[in-house]
Amino acid sequence: MVTRTYRPIPISTLASGTELVLPVHEVTGDRPGPVLGISAAIHGEEAVGVEIVYRFLTSYDLRGLAGRLRVLPVANPFSYAAITRNTPIDMMNLNRVFPGNPDGMLTEQMAHKMAEGFLTGLDFYVDLHAGGAYPTVDYVYIINAEPLSRAFGSRLLYRPKDVPSGTSISVARAHNIPSVVVELGGGDVDQTGYVRRGIAGLANILKTLRMLPDDPTPPPAQIVLREIATLRPHHGGLLLPEVTTIGADVAGGQVLGRIVSPYTFEELEILRCPFDRGIVVLSQLTANVVEPGIFGYMIGNLGTAEREGRDATS
Ligand SMILES: [Zn+2]
Repeated sequence: MVTRTYRPIPISTLASGTELVLPVHEVTGDRPGPVLGISAAIHGEEAVGVEIVYRFLTSYDLRGLAGRLRVLPVANPFSYAAITRNTPIDMMNLNRVFPGNPDGMLTEQMAHKMAEGFLTGLDFYVDLHAGGAYPTVDYVYIINAEPLSRAFGSRLLYRPKDVPSGTSISVARAHNIPSVVVELGGGDVDQTGYVRRGIAGLANILKTLRMLPDDPTPPPAQIVLREIATLRPHHGGLLLPEVTTIGADVAGGQVLGRIVSPYTFEELEILRCPFDRGIVVLSQLTANVVEPGIFGYMIGNLGTAEREGRDATS
C-alpha cells in the first residue's frame, strides 16, 4: 500500500486575500527507503514539468514503492499562472535567490520556505525545467549524481564547470543531496512525447534508486557536453527558424535562424552555429516573436564533448 497525502507549506497571505502555499504531495511506500524530492515550474513558463509530475503521480503504477516521494508540482504558482519566468509581484527569478531570505522580497521568502521546508529534508532531488513558452530544450545536467542523471535517459548531458549560484540545486548540493536537473520540452509544439519521456525518466530514476521493484532500463548512448553556447539575439522581431531538430548536428557557421523585422521586412540578424561541430540543445521550433537577449539557441560543442556507446560516433 502506498499512502498519498497533500501537505502544502504556507508562505504568506497576499493583498488579494489569497493564501500562498507551496503545494507538496507526499507518496509513502510500505517499505523503507530514501526520500526523493521532485520539483517543477520553479520557472513558471516551463509548464511541461507540471504535467509530467501530475501524470506521474496520478497515472504511474507506484505499487511496491520503497521510501517516500515529496513532490512540488508548481514551485512558483504566480509565475506559473502568469506564464512568466519571474514572479510577477516583485519580478524576481526564484531560481536565482536561493537559499532565500525569510525577511526579504516575496520571491526570497518563497525560496527560504522551499529550502527549509522541502529541499533540506531530501535524500535525492530532481528539478524539472523546460525551454519556456517558445524555445524547446532537451538535455540533463550532471551535478553530483552522474548515474541518476544518466538514468533519466536523455541522449544529451551537460557537465557544467559550476552550478549557478542562487539555484535550488545549489542548496541541495551544499547539503550533499545527490541532484539531477532536467531540461526537457517547452515551446509552442506538441508536448506529448516530452511528457512520456519525463514520466519514463522519473520512473527510471526511482528504479535506479531501488525505490521501485523493477530493474532500471540502461540509458541510450549518451553525449556529455562540457561547453554549451547560449545565443541571445541582439535584435527583436520575428525569428524564422532554419534548424528545427533538437539533437541535430550543425556545422560551423551554419544558419540556425534569421530575425526579420515584421514592420519593414528587413533582415536584422542571422544566428549561426558558433562551433566547428555543434549539436542543437535548445531551439526555436516555430516562427516566434523574440526580444533581444532571450534564449535564442543553445548549441553544444561536440569538439570538447565526452562520447561513448556504440552509435556515439554516428
Ligand atoms: Zn528553468
